[in-house]
Amino acid sequence: MYDVLRSRYTFACPTRGEARVSLSSFRRLARLPGAAHPAVFQVEFECACGELHVGLVADDDLDYAPLGLGGGAFLNLMTSTLDAVADEFAEDSARRIGAGEWPWSFFCYPEERPRPVFPSSFWLLAPGGRAVGVAVRCPVCTQVSVNVVSTEHVDLPFHNDASVGVVPHVFAADVPQALEEFRAELYSSAFDVRRLALE
Ligand SMILES: [Zn+2]
Ligand SMILES: [Zn+2]
Repeated sequence: MYDVLRSRYTFACPTRGEARVSLSSFRRLARLPGAAHPAVFQVEFECACGELHVGLVADDDLDYAPLGLGGGAFLNLMTSTLDAVADEFAEDSARRIGAGEWPWSFFCYPEERPRPVFPSSFWLLAPGGRAVGVAVRCPVCTQVSVNVVSTEHVDLPFHNDASVGVVPHVFAADVPQALEEFRAELYSSAFDVRRLALE
């Protein structure tokens, strides 16, 4: 499901059979009602074949597999050498989190502060050149903020941009026009720039 060495999720592609996509190729994430252990997310992603497809991913795979933690069957199927690499990833991740580093972070606009976050809090993503706009539902205040960040900020755990663009607008997460609102703000507005240094 997740290849920790290449930072790619594997999904099915109706044309090519298999699609290996990075987190920044996700376009929309929605938690499915019902299952809680694990919670399951429906992911709409942009495939290398040019189409948008839908795939399912468990919250463990979404949030912890990129850290080498709880990679499950995929990592267990690897050779002992790659298992050792995965263990190193896990150890390194645990050490960094213990030292106060966060794998992912964003700037919460309503709270006016950076917050640590996991990919399962990402809601909408839209690419723009080497940048990507990300709508994030804050795990603390539950409000939606839109940040403009590098693709590495999204794809690589512990790669946090020093500063990010922040759309000065609180998004209504549950209204049908939210997606259009998100795109319009992303392409029209001037961004505030905020430092992302986490305390
Ligand atoms: Zn495809
Ligand atoms: Zn918040």
